[in-house]
Amino acid sequence: MDLPKLAIAALGGTVSMQARHAGEGVIPTVSGESLLALVPELTNMARVTVETLGLMPSASLNFEFLLSVLSWANYQVEQGAVGVVITQGTDTLEETAAFFDYLWNHDAPLVLTGAMRSAGQVGADGPANLLDASRVALAKNSRRRGVQVVMGAEIHHGTTVRKTDSLALQAFSSPMVGPSGMLLEGTVHYLREPPRRNPLPLPQQTSQEIALLESTLSADSLLLENILELGYDGLVIAGFGAGHVSDQWADAVEKIAKKIPVIIATRTGSGPTAQSSYGFIGSEMDLIRRGALMAGFLCPRKARILLWLLVGGGRQDDLGVFLAQD
Ligand code: GLU
Repeated sequence: MDLPKLAIAALGGTVSMQARHAGEGVIPTVSGESLLALVPELTNMARVTVETLGLMPSASLNFEFLLSVLSWANYQVEQGAVGVVITQGTDTLEETAAFFDYLWNHDAPLVLTGAMRSAGQVGADGPANLLDASRVALAKNSRRRGVQVVMGAEIHHGTTVRKTDSLALQAFSSPMVGPSGMLLEGTVHYLREPPRRNPLPLPQQTSQEIALLESTLSADSLLLENILELGYDGLVIAGFGAGHVSDQWADAVEKIAKKIPVIIATRTGSGPTAQSSYGFIGSEMDLIRRGALMAGFLCPRKARILLWLLVGGGRQDDLGVFLAQD
């Protein structure tokens, strides 16, 4: 039987980390080829192409590098891969998943995975996650779903998933909506219909900078007031509660929103921003009146990704449409 083509790329992260010497901290050293060797079952399921595109902690990934990974993944699908799997560090997985999902323009699935336990640790979860991610990438019911994150036998959609625990084995969740699916006895089950998707074209420029600031009690406004002078092209604020800031910040937001797009998200970690509930200075109604946009269900970090992509494509005027979708 002709096996389907599957493409796997390793970028680094804990899944690829090992200590060089006893007593030293783990660092990324394990190649994609070596990861694949830990999952021999895969060779009976697919013809696998594997590449090591990087060996980095995920904190040091950047947008330009992710665009090169995307172009590699696009090429793999054009060459007949039915799905693509990328292994990376989990620290920024929620951001890379959104980044890729906004740009992924194929019916074939792009699946991200990693590990919470490093490669040499007892009970390392990397091989099981790689096998599950590959099952998801090969499954027919994964088509037209965009980017999925597979960790601990759960499937999460790229625009909803978040790392909600720093060290726990089950560190990922999708607040409010839950996982989009799961692996049961090795088969892929989805709990929801495929999402409505509207992929963006590639950004024409990559030099834009989007700031992300968090509202905190009794905060000064020094950084906020200097956002324009510092040359930022957009601003996301992780606001209090349903998308609120202090009265002092509200004045600064109004000045900034006249020049660059400003998105107000919630710092709470779950739930949407409001639109029409509160009228005090710094409330969502006040901030909308002052020219800010509310993030809706998008978390601050994913809102920053969206804004970076839209500004990079000269499409910041479409921001409201994209925020309304979520
Ligand atoms: N816990 C992280 C990981 O799972 C640390 C390193 C990283 O994000 O690259 O990979």
